[in-house]
Amino acid sequence: MAIRAVAADLKPCPMLIGSEHRLSKGRTEVQHSPASGEPLTLIPYCTPEEISEAIATAQQAFPGWSSTPVIQRARVMFRYRQLLEQHADELAALITEEHGKTHEEAKGSLQRGIECVEFAAGIPSLMMGESVARVSGDVDTASVREPIGVCVGITPFNFPLMVPLWMFPIAIACGNTFVLKPSDRVPRSAVRAAELLYEAGLPAGVINVVHGAKAAVDALLTDSRVKAVSFVGSSPVAKYIYTTAAANGKRVQAMGGAKNHSVVMPDCNLTPAVESIMSSSFGCAGERCVATSVVVAVGEVGDKLVDELRRAADAMRVKPGDQPGCDMGPVITPEARERIIGYIEAGEQEGAKLVRDGRKDSVCQGDGNFLGATIFDHVRPQMRIAREEIFGPVLSVIRARDLEEALAVVNGSEHGNAASIYTRSGEAAKRFASDVKTGMVGVNLGVPAPVAIFPFSGWKNSFFGDAHALGKDAVRFYTETKVITSRWPE
Ligand code: NAD
Repeated sequence: MAIRAVAADLKPCPMLIGSEHRLSKGRTEVQHSPASGEPLTLIPYCTPEEISEAIATAQQAFPGWSSTPVIQRARVMFRYRQLLEQHADELAALITEEHGKTHEEAKGSLQRGIECVEFAAGIPSLMMGESVARVSGDVDTASVREPIGVCVGITPFNFPLMVPLWMFPIAIACGNTFVLKPSDRVPRSAVRAAELLYEAGLPAGVINVVHGAKAAVDALLTDSRVKAVSFVGSSPVAKYIYTTAAANGKRVQAMGGAKNHSVVMPDCNLTPAVESIMSSSFGCAGERCVATSVVVAVGEVGDKLVDELRRAADAMRVKPGDQPGCDMGPVITPEARERIIGYIEAGEQEGAKLVRDGRKDSVCQGDGNFLGATIFDHVRPQMRIAREEIFGPVLSVIRARDLEEALAVVNGSEHGNAASIYTRSGEAAKRFASDVKTGMVGVNLGVPAPVAIFPFSGWKNSFFGDAHALGKDAVRFYTETKVITSRWPE
């Protein structure tokens, strides 16, 4: 890796407070390109006063926005959707530049984010309450949904735009105001997304973007003006967010890390299964909370499956995400790369068979945080590479005798985000879907992240809270129910 120059003229990433760009007075760190190591920008760490000002701005905007007719709020989302589509290439390029994923992956993730905006544009029907006439004599009862106030979003690095779009469009469509604290590794995509929402006609102060890490998050979690906190990130931090925000009287949804399994049955259609597993395991360089990290090969399929996975991995083109024909970009930072290499070493030490060593790919010798696809076979469930979230392009294959043993492996995980099965048997698929202890299940597909009309339903250590993100759960999360009982004597 070349020594990194710190250019004196690097531009700092702005905050967004009340629809205006502002430069933080806090310290800054240099953001580097994951693909080249070149400095890109300065990332600010906002001061407590700046965080407080963002919350105050959101709070001031709340009365006006929450009383804006729901149809007008929906119209902002319709315009926003159009702007996101118009700016798709620009946004994807920004995501690729700061995160490293391929341009195609960046566009795909933006599309999934746009689906969240489309869902939010349906807010007039989603906000509908219920009513029953004459619950007793001349008494009627109706329930309505009301926004709750200032909501906060804290997001991870791996989806710089999509994960923020899981949160603020639906929160704002419900009539809330918002303070977003994106990952300090990829803050610029989120600022751009918020700018476009103002271009779509959002009144000043309804969305605000601040920057930082733990200190900024703590300031948000402990401020009494904040009513709800949405978090996506690693499990230890998710648990911390859940307990701290709840102790400070807020509702919380905290999505955590994952260790996802794909079970491959001997009767599956192997070629599409391999294609699907490759995309699930190595797409976004494995930095995906629904990535397949462990394959459980059942019965005699194991040898052929591992052979085909290795061949497909050999054919992958690993290079900067903005180059044509790129299958996999770099991981986010040199530190992340070192951590992932540490897991590869642990797998070797624990006796797993290293079938393909991504450290040896030629791209790993140059600049950038590159690591080729790595595959281990004959991994045992108790090994670290089988249990812990690696969050990189490393796939472990565990052998199992039958579906029952495979289910025991999957259900032994402390995480419960997603799991898939590849089979031609309806019976096996049904049994798997019914007995697996994960919140999202795939049948003959590798990334069972549901479309935005369904909740993103992690279980166990992959989620702390009650109402999930997206779908009707999100509407429940961002609104309070009021039940009105009226007597109008005739
Ligand atoms: P992270 O937990 O390090 O950071 C997430 C956010 O929390 C960032 O905004 C960060 O600034 C902040 N943060 C970090 N440390 C903190 C601390 N000690 N106290 C308070 N705030 C803190 O996660 P990451 O590395 O950015 O993202 C990768 C993780 O996110 C993986 O574990 C992945 O599985 C998970 N993830 C989960 C989902 C899901 O839906 N379950 C989706 C995407 C990513």
